[in-house]
Amino acid sequence: METRKEVVEFPLAKLAPSRYHNTISQYIIKRSASCNECGLCARLCPQGVHSSGNVYSGALKPYMDRCTGFECAANEYYCIDRCPQKALSIQLNPLLETLGDYRWTAEMLLGHWVMAETGDLPVTKLEYSTGKSNGGFDRIRFKTPRQNDYLHIPDKEIDTSVKLNRRNDGRLPLSINIPVYGGGMSFGSTALPVLIGRARAAKKLGTLTCTGEGGYHDKILPYAGNVITQVATGLFGVREETIRRAPMVEFKYAQGAKPGLGGHLLGDKVTAEVAAIRQTVIGNALFSPFPFHSVYSVEDHKKQVDWVKQVNIEGLISVKVSTPVDCDMVAVGIYHAGAHVIHFDGSYGGTGAAPDIAKKNIAMPIEYAIPRVHRFLVSEGIRDQITLIASGGIRSAMDVAKAIALGADGVVIGTAELVAVECVRCGHCESGRGCPRGIATTDSELGQVISEEWAERRIVNMYLAWRKQWCELLRQYRMRSIKELVGRSDLLVHLDYLEEQERNNYLSYGG
Ligand code: SF4
Ligand code: SF4
Repeated sequence: METRKEVVEFPLAKLAPSRYHNTISQYIIKRSASCNECGLCARLCPQGVHSSGNVYSGALKPYMDRCTGFECAANEYYCIDRCPQKALSIQLNPLLETLGDYRWTAEMLLGHWVMAETGDLPVTKLEYSTGKSNGGFDRIRFKTPRQNDYLHIPDKEIDTSVKLNRRNDGRLPLSINIPVYGGGMSFGSTALPVLIGRARAAKKLGTLTCTGEGGYHDKILPYAGNVITQVATGLFGVREETIRRAPMVEFKYAQGAKPGLGGHLLGDKVTAEVAAIRQTVIGNALFSPFPFHSVYSVEDHKKQVDWVKQVNIEGLISVKVSTPVDCDMVAVGIYHAGAHVIHFDGSYGGTGAAPDIAKKNIAMPIEYAIPRVHRFLVSEGIRDQITLIASGGIRSAMDVAKAIALGADGVVIGTAELVAVECVRCGHCESGRGCPRGIATTDSELGQVISEEWAERRIVNMYLAWRKQWCELLRQYRMRSIKELVGRSDLLVHLDYLEEQERNNYLSYGG
């Protein structure tokens, strides 16, 4: 991991189409037997729905995910009307009613799949920034910017980096190029090609990813400079060498999706390889207790931090906790114990392996915790010496920006990276062969349906598309750096506190 240079060269997006022949699209276009293959639709459609590289073939299914839908009827090239044989028809895909949930809506999933495929924003009209939960980030909007404030500078002149070591204590001067890094996912919970793809993407983008508590697989070693070693309560696979090689070591005290419950890996997923890395027995269900049984005070916590600092003399220390009601006091304790990064994980995050009742009812939502912690650290005079990272149900580029405006320096992302590799949010992540997409599995056959390179491209592409959104937002507020956005809650509005007319304006404006 290098320290950040003045101008960061981001990788170019590389096309990474869906793994599936039948992709899930917003619209379904049918071509009937009356088509005489004249090729007019292929020549007409600017989105390339009917062609592959300008070549029309009757045998090719239309690329339906490129279709802009009924709105296209206003254009003179609308293929449905122009087809001389009246062979084309269009309908909304009925599958969308069953896809996703109120937080990750079908449109949000589709929008992120397009970003992961192309590295760009969807051309079709999709609400990919906010869901329909009627709460949390879905009720928060950025204020409409003033037109005169718009800053006409290109993306490459906009700084989206975040400094992770603000203590200036002689340890690594780490920065990440985007205000996001990958959250802990263990080998055991997630297929190895996905984990390697995440690590490769982190290296390409100049950010980090995290082992989770499943130990450190040898195949992750080439990306060690970008991989956080997690030390969690089960201490699975934690060894001095895995601590020593990490640019940052993360203590995981709790997870916002299930605080107080610890971790649980069903025996189904404990294959020979998983058991070997975790130094346990095949098929045995594994529990990570809550809490660390050696830590009951800030002083105990400091001893843990000091231990890791002795083992790894350069690396940074991050401390991940959930969001207790006294999160502000917890943050100060973490700082005084010597951490570089405070990571608060609110409710609503986690995969389908976390129980729904825990995700929704235990931890404080992250949008409440961030401003509280930010302001307390400011009042304590230590805000500029610590990096505040947030996670827990942060799904989109706009969610990231809202978390930063509330006071976080950056964000940890888990689920969105899985969505990039075509997770459908079905919630069957806990069982060995339950994942229909080969993502949350340790089954060697299922896991092979994903290639590392494809996973890398999809994740890189999604973050490149996110960066475009951050850059555009910053330009609108006349900012050159994401750091200027930190704590600017004055730029946000909450829909619940607006007059009806104004609220409706925001709702029609979108995310
Ligand atoms: S315009 Fe109609 S008839 Fe011509 S290739 Fe397209 S679908 Fe077939
Ligand atoms: S597709 Fe796989 S990773 Fe996604 S929710 Fe379903 S089981 Fe979990």
